[in-house]
Amino acid sequence: MSNQMTLNPLVLIKFVLWIGAVVGATLLLRRRKVTSKMRLAYLIGSVLLFGFVFGLLIPGGLNPNPVASLRTLLTTILVKHRLVLPVAVMLVVLLLTVWISNKSICGWGCQLGLLQDLCYRVPLPKWKPPFWLSNSVRSIAFVALVVGLGTAGWDWISGVDPFQLFSFNFTLGIALFSALVLIASLFIYRPWCHFLCPFGLLGWLVEQVSLFRPRINREACKECQLCVKACPGQAMADFYAGKKIHADCFACGACIEACPQADALNWRRSADNK
Ligand code: SF4
Ligand code: SF4
Repeated sequence: MSNQMTLNPLVLIKFVLWIGAVVGATLLLRRRKVTSKMRLAYLIGSVLLFGFVFGLLIPGGLNPNPVASLRTLLTTILVKHRLVLPVAVMLVVLLLTVWISNKSICGWGCQLGLLQDLCYRVPLPKWKPPFWLSNSVRSIAFVALVVGLGTAGWDWISGVDPFQLFSFNFTLGIALFSALVLIASLFIYRPWCHFLCPFGLLGWLVEQVSLFRPRINREACKECQLCVKACPGQAMADFYAGKKIHADCFACGACIEACPQADALNWRRSADNK
């Protein structure tokens, strides 16, 4: 996968668009300009562009995504015992975006994350699974990926890879699993991301030290907790409680939009209270 992926200029174009999306999202979050209506329009457009347009333009189901970059890197290292530099660079740059602006690449770039986010907007009852549960399952899935590749050259994701749906590249396993992920997304925020995604786990580790993320100015905060209620996951509850380790934050901006106090909650840098 890697050689074809790195040689295709469309891959570079998509990568540049991703970086633009992350920078644009960070600026909008900083200025408190992300609204749910604007985000809905963005989700629809970016699922079409990053998902289906690139999925159909780049043949063979090779449309780049953060998970593929990590899987390709692990496969080349653990199975082929070599390092494909462009893939390693791509992964490092994606993780750098997480370090700078939390999981903005997941929230504004990854096609599967965006599609799950879109499904979650269907007005049905919702369930927020405990983070210890989702992260434990995700850690086991990550270990299974590494051990499977290292011992038998087996990548468990390849048989069910839901990213293939954007290329209409279906096997029965992929079709059934993709349907399961999308149905679960109607009730749980980003179930693949929280329970299974290997990039999600790595990104979660990096985002614990990210520069920009939702930060509360306790002097301006009226303790209404509207931000906690607005967050589709557990992250804002952790930020609000001042926990050192927080659940995944996908940079959706719902918490900031919900806060009625202009100075109380912003997408801030740790050393910057402006
Ligand atoms: S966590 Fe979700 S959004 Fe992020 S790379 Fe994984 S699938 Fe994509
Ligand atoms: S609502 Fe939750 S996931 Fe969205 S930006 Fe705020 S803390 Fe992050």
